[in-house]
Formats: sequence, structure tokens, C-alpha cells
Amino acid sequence: SEPVLSATALQKAYGATPALDGADFEIHAGETVAVMGPSGSGKSTLLHCLAGIVRPDAGVVRYRGQELSAMGDAERSALRREEFGFVFQFGQLVPELTCLENVALPLRLAGARRRDAEQRAARWLERLEVAELGRKRPGEVSGGQGQRVAVARALVAEPRVVFADEPTGALDSLNGERVMQLLSAAARETRAAVVLVTHEARVAAYSDREVVVRDGRTRTNVSADVR
Ligand code: ADP
Ligand code: ADP
Repeated sequence: SEPVLSATALQKAYGATPALDGADFEIHAGETVAVMGPSGSGKSTLLHCLAGIVRPDAGVVRYRGQELSAMGDAERSALRREEFGFVFQFGQLVPELTCLENVALPLRLAGARRRDAEQRAARWLERLEVAELGRKRPGEVSGGQGQRVAVARALVAEPRVVFADEPTGALDSLNGERVMQLLSAAARETRAAVVLVTHEARVAAYSDREVVVRDGRTRTNVSADVR
């Protein structure tokens, strides 16, 4: 089958600093790929190019056969809103909204009615084992709880691709493991592809496959069963 998302020969420099220097990538529906490598190797830049947040200087990113660079800004933002989900190291929840409203937000932006959106959001909070946090604001919950809320928000609209950039980076190992278990289970169930940026082997263990980035280049994939 065709990959849902792929990149070929990506180049990106920030001024004189090269971030990507010939990076390739592909991921299929239902697959979780860990993007690994040392700090500064280009992992986040690769993720941002794949998500259409950063435009590469050269190379091609294709989402379901369509070239991202051929899309206009509006089309790319619509794609991000409607088909992609994001989880970052720090939850990035909207502080003024309750946790329930945060999770409902992607559905509201897609035009769902408040009642329907909040019902679905409540089910996702339950799945992430934080049903009781619905009425709280992000400032009133712990880091691990906030990250579960962020995962619920990333998955509520059942995106085809979830981008997770060091999703457990701010958590202790116990919370990190649980967040990864819950993210993996939810992604498997919705057949989402997950691009998982991490430098932790323990987190990468939740992937089907690993891609290693060094000096802006991707290295031959290491199969999970060789580990
Ligand atoms: P990683 O995620 O592996 O830590 P990054 O993709 O964040 O790597 O960074 C790759 C290189 O690009 C680094 O040298 C970094 O300093 C540089 N870089 C990344 N983002 C920016 C930016 N917005 N402006 C300038 N330099 C950047
Ligand atoms: P596009 O053409 O899609 O707008 P750009 O590469 O011009 O893509 O910028 C996309 C985003 O990437 C910017 O909003 C910015 O956050 C980040 N970015 C790109 N280049 C730089 C840079 N040199 N320094 C810092 N951030 C950058």
C-alpha cells in the first residue's frame, strides 16, 4: 500500500545552520514510527516539515499522494486542523478553557455542536483515565494529567496522522509509560499513523519501527524486532 505520509530528500537550513540535509521518511496508516537521534540532529525540523509547519528548502513531502508544497497556506492549515493531531512535550492546552473544552476544541473548530463535541470529548477523557478532570482548567492538573488531556485532544477528531514531539519529555518515567500505553492503544484503535519524536529508547519501544536522524540525515531503519 501507499504510505499515508512520505518525504524525500528534504533540505532545510536556518540561516547558515543546516537542520536537514537529505532526510527521507515514510509512514503507513496504523503504523507508529519513532524518530530518534541526538539533540540538534534535525528530528523536530523533520516533524515540522512532515506536518506542513515548516517549508523545506528542497525535497518533497507527500500526504496521501498530494504534495504539501503545492498547497496554499489555507489548504495546509485546513489539513493540519482536520487530518493531523499534535502532542508536544508541554501540553499546550488553552489555559482559559476547561480540560473538557480543550478536548472538544478540535471538534468545535470542525463545526460540531457544543453538546456533541463535549460528549465525544468526555468519552476520550474517560479513555485516557482522566474523566474526573473535565471541569478543571489545565493550571489545576498535574503534568501527567495534562499530557493525558493533550493526548485526548490530539485524538478526539480521529486524525489520520498524529505528530508527537517528545510527548513524555516532561513526565516522570511511570507517567511517561502510561501516557505512551494510552497513546499507542488509542492510535491502534483509530488506525492513526504516529510520528513519534523521542531520544528515549523506552519511549521508542512503543513504535513499530525506528528512523535515526544524524546531522540532518536519516539512517537506515532499524527494525523493532532486532532490538
Ligand atoms: P532536534 O529536534 O533533533 O533537537 P532540531 O530540528 O530542533 O533538532 O534542530 C536541528 C538544527 O537546526 C539545530 O542546529 C538547531 O539549532 C537548528 N534550528 C532548529 N530550529 C531552528 C530555528 N527555528 N531557528 C534557527 N535554528 C533552528
Ligand atoms: P511557509 O512558507 O510554509 O510559511 P516557512 O519556512 O517560511 O514556511 O516558515 C514556517 C515556520 O517555520 C515559521 O512560521 C517559523 O515558525 C519557522 N521557521 C522557518 N524558518 C525559520 C527561521 N529561520 N528561524 C526561525 N523559525 C523559522
